[in-house]
Amino acid sequence: MTQSPYWNPRIETLPREQLEALQLAKLRTLCEWAQARSPWYRRSFAQGGFEPGQLRSLDDLRRIPLLTREQWMTSQDERPPYGELPTIAPETAIRVHTTSGTSGRTPLRALDSRKDWAWIAEMWAYGLWACGVRPSDTAYVAFGYGSFIGFWGLHYAMEKIGVLNVPGGAQTTEARVKQILSFDATVVASTPTYALRLAQEADQLGLDLRGSAVKRVILSGEPAGSIPETKALIEQQWGAKAYDTAGMTEVGTIVMFECEHQPGGAHIIEDHVLEESLDPETLEPAASGERAERVVTSFGRHAIPLIRYRTGDEISRVPGSRCGCGRTADIYAGGILGRVDDMKLVRGTNVYPRAIEGIVRAFPHVEEFQVRITREGLRDEIALLVETAPDHADAWPEVSSALRRELADAHEGLNFRVERAEAGALPRFELKAKRMVDLRDRPMGA
Ligand SMILES: [Zn+2]
Repeated sequence: MTQSPYWNPRIETLPREQLEALQLAKLRTLCEWAQARSPWYRRSFAQGGFEPGQLRSLDDLRRIPLLTREQWMTSQDERPPYGELPTIAPETAIRVHTTSGTSGRTPLRALDSRKDWAWIAEMWAYGLWACGVRPSDTAYVAFGYGSFIGFWGLHYAMEKIGVLNVPGGAQTTEARVKQILSFDATVVASTPTYALRLAQEADQLGLDLRGSAVKRVILSGEPAGSIPETKALIEQQWGAKAYDTAGMTEVGTIVMFECEHQPGGAHIIEDHVLEESLDPETLEPAASGERAERVVTSFGRHAIPLIRYRTGDEISRVPGSRCGCGRTADIYAGGILGRVDDMKLVRGTNVYPRAIEGIVRAFPHVEEFQVRITREGLRDEIALLVETAPDHADAWPEVSSALRRELADAHEGLNFRVERAEAGALPRFELKAKRMVDLRDRPMGA
């Protein structure tokens, strides 16, 4: 018997008109639930003059007030520990996860019920199935299993599909590499940064990942999974296909995944989330293909409903018909493009972390890098610090001048200082890599 390429064949190929009718029905139920059970939403709806009965078409979505991370955090501060968004008493929930946090603020605390966890696993199952994970696979989850939600949902989805799962928590990188090989894992889940780190470690240990059983690397947690150069490097170092997914703690699970056709972007799981693309300044809907901020409404999280939440993620949405897989869900071209506020202005030139990473990852000797922006007197300076493999020291003069040239070409001639950092000097990341540091506003000596 040939297996369906879809986890949910009927829904994933539903004609757009029916998909939108389903979304509208789910949106009404969600808003009624939130109004009845969440003190925060009850007040926010009343203040915005919104009633769930006003939802007669998806265009009416815009009547609902937006929710920001700041509002959620303020609610937690005022009514600790969970604020007034939850619809259920904390003792009814079965788990709490937290975000990585903004400096000086309490991280977001997301409660989930048993029903929420079933939904989170279902969402991940859409994505894992689409990129070819099947019950005969053995998956290695290279993840710390801590309070960050990360790959917890992937773990349950693997079990739901029937995959043999190896939880790789609380291990050194060396131990993880050895387990991947000794269990004959066919699928590995990790962040893009950590996938590269595992490959470097294997190289240093003289172990062969390219010749291993690994066929698929499932990426999440950072936008880099959709940067073509980073993905190509991961695929080359693992001898496997890499697939991008993206989600967030506030939703609890992934909201998009790459299918096996890899159309240069990720399909939105539109029967479970309602995604809007808004201009971050005017909050008006963006045109198809335009760079905009994603605003998410999640139909499945029941303990903390998420309705019109401003994610701060930058995306460019295009129709699903671009992909040959038959799914009707729209696509985020290039996955998550970055954060709407991560662009830096250096001497009048726009600098994006994603564009720099795309250039740097085309140099496979680069093991780690960091971009530092400083102010010297009245002048801004930008430097790229690079760690290369120790046995590539001879190639450095050539690599550094090529990097300098390519960075300048991509940034209107902006001159980057390219410096070699000592081995191990730059920060390593397992989650949420942050490689661009702006030191311009820091007081002297800090
Ligand atoms: Zn597709």
